[in-house]
Amino acid sequence: MDCSICFEAYDDGSRVPKQLSCGHSLCARCATACADSESRLRCPQCQKVTLAPENTFTTNYELLNFLMICKANQQKKRVTFVRQEANDSTDLLRNSLKLVKGIDQQH
Ligand SMILES: [Zn+2]
Ligand SMILES: [Zn+2]
Repeated sequence: MDCSICFEAYDDGSRVPKQLSCGHSLCARCATACADSESRLRCPQCQKVTLAPENTFTTNYELLNFLMICKANQQKKRVTFVRQEANDSTDLLRNSLKLVKGIDQQH
């Protein structure tokens, strides 16, 4: 999920997704950068104006949660992948142990 203005990925920091009254979203950086001195932001996608007193745009928590879940899933996948690698090397170790034992028995 990327901001449609700066094409950077949303995150839970300076690029938190902000929701406009029209339903469109953009990152906090762009929301602040695009707002005029009266804290009015014209949606870059549909030209509707959102009023945000003191630049307090509503955070799109739904989108943010979704992003965080995606992030967590990606990390989980990575962990499983590492575990699989670990299992592979244990098998390798076991197989080589068997080989060693086999040689021992031949003696
Ligand atoms: Zn942006
Ligand atoms: Zn809009």
